[in-house]
Amino acid sequence: MVTRALDVVLLGPPGAGKGTQAKRLAAALSLLHISTGDLLREEVAKNSPLGQEAASFMQRGELVPDDLVAKMLLARLYTQQGLAGCVFDGYPRTQAQAELLDQLLAELGRRVDVAVYLEVPDGEVVARLGGRRSCPNCGAVYHVQTKPPAREGLCDVCGSGLVVREDDREEVIRQRLSVYRSHTEPLLELYEKRGVLRRVDGLGAVDAIFARLKEAVKGSVAR
Ligand code: AMP
Repeated sequence: MVTRALDVVLLGPPGAGKGTQAKRLAAALSLLHISTGDLLREEVAKNSPLGQEAASFMQRGELVPDDLVAKMLLARLYTQQGLAGCVFDGYPRTQAQAELLDQLLAELGRRVDVAVYLEVPDGEVVARLGGRRSCPNCGAVYHVQTKPPAREGLCDVCGSGLVVREDDREEVIRQRLSVYRSHTEPLLELYEKRGVLRRVDGLGAVDAIFARLKEAVKGSVAR
């Protein structure tokens, strides 16, 4: 039996739950989860030259220049050749990135099979991100109201002190939303025209959203 790779792009505003859902989807379908936000945060934590360049853009809620992100993406994609496919989380975020992704996948004989748009209104985004607490050590994510850790301020997984991500401050959240509207939202049309866009309601319980997401991905692959 010949099985084709499956490549899924997750789109949606910051705080739509892309990270949480992308990890689950990747695990469920044995795909590689590639989050450019996570990769960039790793570079910043390592204080690598790339991390140093990226940090100020991230703190302001702006996009990191395409060429920097592309370098990182390439490294990750090409060390994972022969894989069943990827869930791209937070990439592409611009038209140029979408074109590059097409090109990179084409070189591997692959393509974007499904682009899922996780739909969440702005007010909800601000509430979600404003209450978000992250573990700087292991990357686990909590929320003061909807997913508090067992011991206040401490990570359930590794016990480290939780922090508010620099870019989860309210003024930065607004900036990230505005960048999203102007640069990333237009990509919906691009994938819609190709007939690979699926809209998934991003409101509700994490499990319910995941069930809808899996349905949308499986449904479009089966066609
Ligand atoms: P995220 O965790 O996906 O919200 O990403 C956090 C920050 O990393 C964003 O606000 C951007 O500054 C930067 N970033 C992540 N992915 C990209 C990308 N594909 N292109 C440019 N900047 C990115």
